[in-house]
Amino acid sequence: MSDYLVKALSFDKQVRAYAVNSTETVGEAQRRHQTWPTTSAALGRAMTAGAMMGAMLKGEEKLTVKVEGDGPIGAIIVDSDAKGHVRGYVSNPQVHFDLNEKGKLDVQRAVGTNGTVSVVKDIGLRENFSGQVPIVSGELGEDFTYYFAVSEQTPSSLGVGVLVNPDNTILAAGGFIIQLMPGTDEETISKIEESINKTPPVSKMIQDGLSPEEILYQLLGEDNVQVIEKMPVKFQCTCSKERFGRAIISLGESEIQEMITEDGKADTQCHFCNAEYHFTKEELKDILEEAKMA
Ligand SMILES: [Zn+2]
Repeated sequence: MSDYLVKALSFDKQVRAYAVNSTETVGEAQRRHQTWPTTSAALGRAMTAGAMMGAMLKGEEKLTVKVEGDGPIGAIIVDSDAKGHVRGYVSNPQVHFDLNEKGKLDVQRAVGTNGTVSVVKDIGLRENFSGQVPIVSGELGEDFTYYFAVSEQTPSSLGVGVLVNPDNTILAAGGFIIQLMPGTDEETISKIEESINKTPPVSKMIQDGLSPEEILYQLLGEDNVQVIEKMPVKFQCTCSKERFGRAIISLGESEIQEMITEDGKADTQCHFCNAEYHFTKEELKDILEEAKMA
């Protein structure tokens, strides 16, 4: 089944909610980057949050989430847009630790507990919107919750989770975000808190076969959920040979000339999706001509 995300309103539009099954999307990232389980959980949680944050955008808007902690996986970078496209990578994909004392993948240890979470939104204005908060937990769910509270002044409850098979493939991945609009009454808040506390982890709900809609029914009550949009989500990169060609042009004539005479070729690779693009000597000569005209 393909991944999708739902947006919903609840409690007389006092509450906005998002839920996503991101199993295939995270699976694709795992295959492309050959991540080990702890890294898969960290990257998958960030990509799942990123997909839902992308769904809060409009039209051609897009965003980049960066988690830069002091743990061994290094930086996590995730790009997403308003159309359900998400891509991401980590500095060190092959990191794995024993499960933590709760029996879960030890994302905190992989990410680290010191550092920053930043979000840059390209919303078509000259200046991008950007927000940055310190890492408060390293488990990522709490960190994104903190980001929403501080940088966007939106009280939110966010859950993201990833389960990994013994062969390192992704068993289940998904998440939810519940956001309180200004003026949400106390009764609604305590009802939601109570319900979140008794709901199983989101990765478990996905593993049990719950759809994104059903996850929101669990969290908010079936009668309370008004789904307003359903959107496919997938791993998609924006790279192409043409883009890499333009990047080579921007290196300038002397650099390109050096590639031609010294290597006779250029091999490039996209960080986000690991796709490789190879340029032959002839192609580099054409690129050099273009650089001369630029
Ligand atoms: Zn790519």
